[in-house]
Amino acid sequence: MGSIKLDGLKKAFGSQTVIPDANLEIADGEFVVFVGPSGCGKSTLLRLIAGLEEPTDGRILIDGRDVTHAAPARRKLAMVFQSYALYPHMSVYQNIAFPLKMAGEKADVIRVRVQEVATSLDLLPYLERRPRALSGGQRQRVAIGRAIIRQPAGFLFDEPLSNLDAALRVSMRTEISELHRRLRSTMIYVTHDQVEAMTMADRIAVMNAGRIEQFDTPLELYRRPANMFVAGFIGSPK
Ligand code: ADP
Ligand code: MG
Repeated sequence: MGSIKLDGLKKAFGSQTVIPDANLEIADGEFVVFVGPSGCGKSTLLRLIAGLEEPTDGRILIDGRDVTHAAPARRKLAMVFQSYALYPHMSVYQNIAFPLKMAGEKADVIRVRVQEVATSLDLLPYLERRPRALSGGQRQRVAIGRAIIRQPAGFLFDEPLSNLDAALRVSMRTEISELHRRLRSTMIYVTHDQVEAMTMADRIAVMNAGRIEQFDTPLELYRRPANMFVAGFIGSPK
């Protein structure tokens, strides 16, 4: 559960075409990174997949099902925002429980699920704290906890580590890779950081001005970049 296919996907804002024609097939369980310079359309592409933007043309299929016009909640994808997207007035417990509560789940079911998720993310000691009383890494784990509580088929991350300092970024990177190894869910991870892309991805989509220039494994991108842009961006020898 969790293959994603983009078929001739297009997005324009007024007269500005941001994504002209995106075609991509992501396999179930893959860790895919969208990488490219600022403003190239990474977030827009991710938001289209999440259902937060309506495409101008083309189709999105999840597990073969056409979800092009489906509401975000019906796509079984969890979007992980940056750490500041936690609800500041709620405890860690309430933040993690929130999606289940919104879905109308019973309190005892919620309690069991929150315990499970908090255990797997080492957050048990912090359930009663407010986000502001947590470290950056702990806050990030709460955001991930809130995303995994509904057992989505896939995760979408939009530069989730860009607000963290360098040391924490490295440890969070490892943590997200661990999470992928454990859950085996499809993950799409957006970053403008080549090192992050090369170390985390099964496959990387290198984007430039709204186009996917190449979609390949880190090793293939390095060895056989499709063009000068990819070579320059990845830092390979071409
Ligand atoms: P990235 O995430 O790679 O930095 P974005 O997807 O955020 O790039 O933006 C790509 C382009 O689309 C930019 O030129 C940006 O100004 C434009 N854009 C993004 N969202 C909107 C919007 N809601 N309305 C108008 N233009 C937008
Ligand atoms: Mg962005």
